[in-house]
Amino acid sequence: MTGTSAAVAGDVIVVGGGAAGLTAALVLARARHRVTVLDDQTHRNGTVDEFHGFPTRDATAPNRFRADALAELHAYGVSIVRCAVTEARSTDTNVSLSLADGTTIHGDAVVLATGVRDELPPVAGLARRWGKSVFNCPFCDGWEHRDQPVVVIDAAPGADHLADMVRSWTSHVTVVSASDIAGLIGEGQSLSHVELRNGTMIPAKAAFVKAPVVPRSAVARALGCNIDGDGYIVTSENGATSNPLVWAAGDVRRPPPAPHQVVLAAADGSAAAIAIHKAFVAHSIGSATVHPALHR
Ligand SMILES: Cc1cc2nc3c(=O)[nH]c(=O)nc-3n(C[C@H](O)[C@H](O)[C@H](O)COP(=O)(O)OP(=O)(O)OC[C@H]3O[C@@H](n4cnc5c(N)ncnc54)[C@H](O)[C@@H]3O)c2cc1C
Repeated sequence: MTGTSAAVAGDVIVVGGGAAGLTAALVLARARHRVTVLDDQTHRNGTVDEFHGFPTRDATAPNRFRADALAELHAYGVSIVRCAVTEARSTDTNVSLSLADGTTIHGDAVVLATGVRDELPPVAGLARRWGKSVFNCPFCDGWEHRDQPVVVIDAAPGADHLADMVRSWTSHVTVVSASDIAGLIGEGQSLSHVELRNGTMIPAKAAFVKAPVVPRSAVARALGCNIDGDGYIVTSENGATSNPLVWAAGDVRRPPPAPHQVVLAAADGSAAAIAIHKAFVAHSIGSATVHPALHR
């Protein structure tokens, strides 16, 4: 065996170009698979100036993170398609995904890294401050607002628990119901006050929102994957789903109380990629195209 063949082990499609999908694609490409990343560019942290808590990437702009990751993937020959997956189906050996542009793409295996959507309450001035001065997670943005006045906006069950957590960073915490708020006040995308409908002005440098989180599991449903009662994809530890050709990674497989963090999404992507590669080696997927070197 020479080991010089350029053959690849199989075709793997990654749906989602966030930390989970990009990491899965990198690990799979380095394992000599032919990888296509499909991404409709509606990233959860699309409005965030910088994310925190990822060693060597602390305070990184998410756009920078994605651009750096895509440059690495290009170097391994990964195909990137900026398009939404609208339909999906699978046989025993193959998955087909239809894209919004009318094309269809086939693969031996799929990683679903489609993330979640934050359902923000319709508070005046909130949407444009999302990721700037309004956040969801004190582990992500608490440090930057330590000892400052902050408001916790109650728009879903669990706001009191969120407030208890935020008090680890600052003792100046006021909890208000989203329905009591007239609007968020402050220069540009910054926050100085939360104005209540009764006229009260609460000083606040930041707000943390407890809002519903909706897993983006439509493709997983179409592929027949088990979904839990809250819409999260049910997986084993390495991301395997109930469909033997489908793995999931990132926020979309992390029901509460599992944390949603960039570093954890990346770890999920790596775990799923390695599990997929092992499935190719074990011949449980990818019947036709296994590289001979993988049998050693
Ligand atoms: C305001 C805010 C601040 C945050 N700050 C931090 C922080 O400081 N530190 C931290 O670690 N975490 C932070 N997070 C959490 C972090 O953003 C998520 O945990 C992380 O983005 C999850 O990565 P993911 O790859 O699972 O999902 P995402 O990053 O959401 O990526 C999912 C991708 O799937 C794509 N997609 C979905 N459906 C389809 C489809 N049908 N077809 C094609 N593409 C599709 C989307 O376009 C998207 O690119 C923050 C979150 C928010 C909301």
